Amino acid sequence: MKIIDKFNEAKGRTLFSFEILPPPKGRHFEDIQKAIEPLLEFEPAYINVTYHREEYVYKKREKGYLEKVAVRKRPGTVGICAAIKYKYNIDTVPHLICGGFTKEETENALIDLSFLGIDNVLALRGDPVKTETHFVPTPGGHTNALGLVQQISNLGKGIYLDEDMQDGEPLEFCIGVAAYPEKHVEAPNLAMDIEFLKKKIEAGASYAVTQLFFDNRHYFRFVEACRQAGITVPIIPGIKPISRKSHLTYMPKFFHVEIPEVLARAIERCSTDKEVEEVGTEWAIQQCKELIKAGVPSLHFYTMGRSTQVQKIARQIF
Ligand code: FAD
Repeated sequence: MKIIDKFNEAKGRTLFSFEILPPPKGRHFEDIQKAIEPLLEFEPAYINVTYHREEYVYKKREKGYLEKVAVRKRPGTVGICAAIKYKYNIDTVPHLICGGFTKEETENALIDLSFLGIDNVLALRGDPVKTETHFVPTPGGHTNALGLVQQISNLGKGIYLDEDMQDGEPLEFCIGVAAYPEKHVEAPNLAMDIEFLKKKIEAGASYAVTQLFFDNRHYFRFVEACRQAGITVPIIPGIKPISRKSHLTYMPKFFHVEIPEVLARAIERCSTDKEVEEVGTEWAIQQCKELIKAGVPSLHFYTMGRSTQVQKIARQIF
């Protein structure tokens, strides 16, 4: 079932959804089960599975030469989505990224998804590879998420890449896109970032999911600014509870988000990880309660391998 239909059917009730990462290469489906099963009691409306592009590492070769080798550390997004869907009867949302894909490969992935009965995707540009300072488009691939949304949307109209298949069998997907209440790091300003978001919606995206945030005011202001800019689609808040002291620097560094002073100081005062987790859990509970009161369509949790913390939060709010 398409995610947008789930929001419409919920008629104002806030749904529960979450994101998982594919396990590192060589691990098994049991890892996925461990991530999902603690959260089944909350009847997730859908589960997102992230996509991880290749990373480059240098391997030492004979005579001291270094060889640059591409390694994909967390493969399996499409297979994991299908396995979850058919094992638990829960809709899944694979993330599709531009980086590392030609348009042809993207089309093939969409055809695979369609055969697997998956009709939702989250269309993203993807981050730069770790060894590069900025995003470098893959030759034959898309430069940003807008191009990817256009391609997926075209397929929904039966327009394939092959010029002889411009009136083919339509493959329809409900498309979600990313949004950034505190602005995407590369955007010149929030107003222009919202303009780019609007373009993705106009190209066929049905809803947006936000980057994680710790201060609901950022989310509320952002939604207000989007509405003023004419964006009417659901904007799903992304929630990530803090669980370690190192998150005080990790979250701002990697996700370009602010940690409110009260929260940061409370975490600094903690002497154990258990205490940090308690503070982070309580903060997320209060965030979620306020967001539910505001009538958000879904609370989307970034589990990052910590389902039991999300379980504690969900027990207080669902
Ligand atoms: P875009 O929408 O393409 O925007 C990228 C930048 O370009 C922005 O600064 C935007 O303002 C600017 N821009 C957009 N259009 C234009 C234009 N026409 N002209 C000039 N500038 C423009 N990454 C992964 O690798 N795998 C994942 O699974 C993954 N999941 C994510 C899930 C969520 C909910 C979110 C919020 C992020 C996720 N990311 C993931 C990270 C994401 O790939 C990065 O944040 C990436 O840097 C931007 O992706 P985007 O889709 O928002 O890009």
